[in-house]
Amino acid sequence: MTIAILTRYGSFNENSSQFDLTTIGVRTMTNDNIRHEATAAIARDPSEPLTFEQVTLQSPRADEVLIKIVASGICHTDLVCLYQELPVPLPMVLGHEGAGIVVEAGSAVKDLSPGDHVVLSFNSCGECPSCEHELPSYCYDFMENNFSGCRGDGTGTMEQNGEAVNANFFGQSSFATMAIANVRNTVKVRKDLPLEMLAPLGCGVQTGAGTVLNSLSVTVANSMAIFGGGAVGLSALMAAKLVGADPIVVVEPLADRRALALELGADHVIDPFAVENVVEEIKKLVGGVDFSLEMTGIPAVASQCVAALKPLGTCALVGAAPADAEVSINIMEMLATGRKIVGIVEGDAEPRTFIPQLIEYYDEGRFPFDRLIDFFPFEALNEAVEAQGNGQSIKPVVRMG
Ligand SMILES: [Zn+2]
Ligand SMILES: [Zn+2]
Repeated sequence: MTIAILTRYGSFNENSSQFDLTTIGVRTMTNDNIRHEATAAIARDPSEPLTFEQVTLQSPRADEVLIKIVASGICHTDLVCLYQELPVPLPMVLGHEGAGIVVEAGSAVKDLSPGDHVVLSFNSCGECPSCEHELPSYCYDFMENNFSGCRGDGTGTMEQNGEAVNANFFGQSSFATMAIANVRNTVKVRKDLPLEMLAPLGCGVQTGAGTVLNSLSVTVANSMAIFGGGAVGLSALMAAKLVGADPIVVVEPLADRRALALELGADHVIDPFAVENVVEEIKKLVGGVDFSLEMTGIPAVASQCVAALKPLGTCALVGAAPADAEVSINIMEMLATGRKIVGIVEGDAEPRTFIPQLIEYYDEGRFPFDRLIDFFPFEALNEAVEAQGNGQSIKPVVRMG
């Protein structure tokens, strides 16, 4: 028996450089082996709270695992999708920083067993040139595998009363008590650290740290300006300190985040609303920077990010922006200074090796990412989403048990 699922899936339009998520397709899933009950927080309407509802998950396929979710972080991208700035098909179960315990592993899964502790990250196809080069965050099928509401092959993983519910968000949909994930986005982690603390490693923390450690290969005495002191920006700051970058400037409007940035080792912090010209302020303090990191997704901030660079400096665009956001650059200025601008997704991380590495840094006391986290009960997920949106919490994490 099959169930028709009406959903939308994305493609990258090279002409307009925008994601097109408007294509309508009919997807199917078999329900012959559905049997796992779970509670999921379903996003039905951008203007309504998420609703807690009973759903049913299939058993995992050969290359998948069924996971009891213990905790999930809330990332800015969850909000971007909830509010349809990136229009995923609703109703959908969001959540993409899941951590939990393996309940069942598919027949082809070799390195995961029931009882293993895992952190979930983004999904990828495993076969395209990017995946083959261990850069899965640039997977040619990234949109289909992470935002379409179903698996990359178009089949669904979750249903309710005989009707399909869009899930498999980032290969997981972790705003639920159970999830199905692919072995490619399931990362086995140590059991001696609390899973609830490790959840944000799957996206936000990995993105910030990976930008510094993987993408830019920042090293000792490199200067850096980080625009945006949220979870991604402060994770980048911790990674920059770890490799000895110096000096580091953090530009952030919220006072408590500037204070935390200083505690985590920033040399200077700037309130962008308290100075006349942020770029001039950076030049006055440190004379320009080798690396600037754009974590806000705001085009005007991206322009400042480029302008703050020294000759031969690199600007990293990391913050998710509205689909039509653009930034203009002066060609001769770029030519004459040898500057670079690079877009970065998920810190160029291969999660199965990078996340265990970050955990080792944490264990050595060199990467205290737990300082960013506030815990909420799962029932308070809507409050946690609000706290993410209004800046009250840098990294809210909901606990399922
Ligand atoms: Zn791929
Ligand atoms: Zn994210």
